[in-house]
Amino acid sequence: MNFFGKKKNVKTQEPWKIARSCLELILECAKSNYPNEFGGLLRVDDKVKDTITEVVILPGTISGDSHAIFQMHMRPIDFSIVGTVHSHPSRSYRPSGADLHLFQKYGKVHIIAAKPYAEDSWKAYNYNGEEIEMSVIKR
Ligand SMILES: [Zn+2]
Repeated sequence: MNFFGKKKNVKTQEPWKIARSCLELILECAKSNYPNEFGGLLRVDDKVKDTITEVVILPGTISGDSHAIFQMHMRPIDFSIVGTVHSHPSRSYRPSGADLHLFQKYGKVHIIAAKPYAEDSWKAYNYNGEEIEMSVIKR
């Protein structure tokens, strides 16, 4: 045991950030897939800590409460992928039971975009389904 050993373990998660261009792409996809849901994976840039810069759009759509689409694509271990994003065809960005199940199973950060898919109609959640802060940065 050394002096720094303890400090290392209490490292807390910095607030998440998302690149504006990435958020715009998410909202665009949500709009164009409506009334279906769309799903994607959130990816960070290694060089910019805790900043989501890319969304990997998953082919196909999510139907109703099924998140099979995510499970299929999350098999390969890719450490630059930190979580998921999907849209709701309603004005609610509250996670459903299936969403919570998905959040707990995979990833650290999750975004839900709701109608009308505007800049303020989305929310970010942690693995526990608790709302978390995410700031939009220019990039
Ligand atoms: Zn959902």
